[in-house]
Amino acid sequence: MTEVVHTPRVFSGIQPSGGLTLGNYLGAIKRFVSMQDSGIEAIYCMVDLHAITVWQDPSDLRHATRELCAGYIAAGLDPSKSTLFNQSQVSAHAELGWVFSCVARMGWLNRMTQFKDKAGKNRENASVGLFSYPTLMAADILVYHATHVPVGEDQKQHIELTRDIAAKFNHDYGVDFFPITEPVIEGEATRVMSLRDGSKKMSKSDPSDNSRINMTDDADKIAQKIRKAKTDADGLPSEAKGLEGRPEAANLVNIYAALADMSVDQVLADVGGKQFSEFKPMLSELAVAKLSPISAEMARLMQTPDEIDKILRTGADKARAIADPILAKTLEIVGMVR
Ligand code: ATP
Ligand code: MG
Repeated sequence: MTEVVHTPRVFSGIQPSGGLTLGNYLGAIKRFVSMQDSGIEAIYCMVDLHAITVWQDPSDLRHATRELCAGYIAAGLDPSKSTLFNQSQVSAHAELGWVFSCVARMGWLNRMTQFKDKAGKNRENASVGLFSYPTLMAADILVYHATHVPVGEDQKQHIELTRDIAAKFNHDYGVDFFPITEPVIEGEATRVMSLRDGSKKMSKSDPSDNSRINMTDDADKIAQKIRKAKTDADGLPSEAKGLEGRPEAANLVNIYAALADMSVDQVLADVGGKQFSEFKPMLSELAVAKLSPISAEMARLMQTPDEIDKILRTGADKARAIADPILAKTLEIVGMVR
C-alpha cells in the first residue's frame, strides 16, 4: 500500500463550558493565532457538543459559545483566514464520532485520566457522553484529516487516543485514509495550574473563581487574584532548577514567561532574588497589559451577537465543505450503501 501524504492542516477546539481562562489563552488560543499567522490552513471550533457532557444551562451555553467566538477573534483569529464555527452546526462530527465509538475499545477509554478527574467519585452518575467524549474529539480532528492539533498538555492523552483510532481504522479496513495526527504542545505554559492549588490544572469549570484568571476579569480582579495566589515562603531563584518541587512558584513564573514571550530562564535572570511580594505586582501588570485589550475587544464584539452568529454560520459552511466528503468516504469504506 502506498502511503498517502496528507497536506498540513490544523484543527483545534475549545468547549463553551464557561468563560475563557488564562490557561485556555496561553495553552491554546495564543498558539492558534501563531499557527494561523504562519500561513498553515487552520480550523478552530467551539465544541458545544462536548460542553453538554456536563449540564449546561441553555442560555448560558449560547452566551458562552458567542463569547468564545468573540475571544477567538479578539485574540487575533481572523475569520477570513481561519475557519471558525461551532461544532453542532456540522453534523459530520457527530456521525463520524459514532463510527469511532465502534472503533475505539472500552479498555482504551477506561484509561482516560480526564474522565476519572471529571467524574470523580460519582462515576455511576456521570453522563455516557463524558465517558465517550474522546471518540467525538477524534472525529472532530479526523473529519478534517487534520495533521496538527495545538492543545494544552492535559489533552495529550486524547490526541494519543485519536492516533490509535486512526491507526485501527486504517488497519481494520485495509486503507491509508486517516492521518496519524501530531499533537502540538509547546510554549512556556502548556499546563497553567490553579492559583489556589499548584497540583490542579486551571479550568474554566472549576467551582472556585479564585482558582483562575478569566479573560473577562478587570484589572482590579486580576491583581486581587494574583495577590491571593498561593506561593511558598521562599524568594525567586535565578535558575529554573530552583523551581523544582515548588509548583505554585513555578506556575507564576511560567505564566509570566508565556505572557512576556520569554523563556523561564530569561525571566529568572531578571527577577531572581526578588520576593513574591515584589514579583506578584509585576505579574499583575503584565497580565493586565496583555489581557485587557483582548477583553475590551471581546466586550465590543459581544454587542453585536448577530454578527457573531453570521461568522459561525459562514464558518460552518466552509467546514462542511471539507468534512462532508471525508465522512461520505468513511461511510463508503465501512460498507454503508450510499
Ligand atoms: P473544562 O474545565 O470545561 O474542561 P478547560 O478550561 O479545561 O474547560 P477545554 O475547553 O477543556 O478548557 O480546553 C480547551 C483548550 O485549552 C485545550 O487545548 C486545553 O488543553 C487547553 N487548556 C485548558 N486548560 C489549560 C491549562 N490550565 N493550561 C494550558 N492549557 C489549557
Ligand atoms: Mg478541559
